[in-house]
Amino acid sequence: MQELLLEVKDLEINFYTYRGVVRALNGVNLRINKGEFFGLVGETGCGKSVTASAILNLVQNPGRIEKGEIIFKGIDILKMSKEEIRKDIRGKEITMIMQYPIAALNPVINNGEQISEALIANIDITKNEAEKRTIELLKEVNIPEPEKIARQYPHQLSGGMAQRVMIAMMLSTKPSLLIADEPTTALDVSIQAQVLNLLKDLVVKYNTTILLITHDLSVVAETCERVGVMYAGDMVEIGELKHIIDNPKHPYTRGLINAIPSEKRTKLQEIKGSVPDLVNPPSGCRFHPRCTFAKSVCKQKKPQMLEVEKNHLVSCYLYDGQK
Ligand code: SF4
Repeated sequence: MQELLLEVKDLEINFYTYRGVVRALNGVNLRINKGEFFGLVGETGCGKSVTASAILNLVQNPGRIEKGEIIFKGIDILKMSKEEIRKDIRGKEITMIMQYPIAALNPVINNGEQISEALIANIDITKNEAEKRTIELLKEVNIPEPEKIARQYPHQLSGGMAQRVMIAMMLSTKPSLLIADEPTTALDVSIQAQVLNLLKDLVVKYNTTILLITHDLSVVAETCERVGVMYAGDMVEIGELKHIIDNPKHPYTRGLINAIPSEKRTKLQEIKGSVPDLVNPPSGCRFHPRCTFAKSVCKQKKPQMLEVEKNHLVSCYLYDGQK
């Protein structure tokens, strides 16, 4: 039986901007089990990174969490004080790697010291032990000449090497959940594959759980066991990777898959229209202006998530027998 690690319940987040209220998350639900490699996929602006920020309780002004719960190991993170989150959760139980590692690393501290500092700040360890463990961590993320890299500064690293340093730092506290937000987007294709393979190996080695956020369904197909597809602030489909890739149910997921180049596909199909402005999102199913199957109910009410096969959930009236 799988153990539930994280549950996001009915999460609603708005951003109060000069242009109006951006309805960024529209009641998102998500469950991630311990030891899973879970992928969250969707176009830019669909709410993936906002969801990740909320999991770390990092949604900043003008953003506001309007309602919902984020239950991590049985405790609602949103009810914890800033101090409790800083002390017990962020950087310890949940860590995050970003798209641009060189920008995320401190430019004036050498790579080794940055990892040692993370160790000393979060676990009971002496300076000497932290320095030794830093070299071990750099070896574990396949960095050649780890002692040399430890003495260097972030600007001396390639993008792929900087991402490995970042991964070493974020794994240093053996977190229960590692959030990887577009970790390979800024890297060359061959380096992307190396970083994804490294993350896959580390899930097993560290018995950690990974939430991979990406706009690229082919990245998810390389790595994840389960996938959530988001569109315009809604979770529209969740299922095991093989269900999502081989038997997608939601018209948006089908559109995403038809847009991926493959040997079988001679012509790529685009999804008609464009992502809506979330200051004034479409009523009902937010995908309805772009959906060739839209019917009148789709414009009136948001469809519920329904289980269409075991562990495969879809939010679409095509599968709601009552409509
Ligand atoms: Fe299309 Fe309606 Fe399904 Fe939305 S609910 S994806 S508009 S058929």
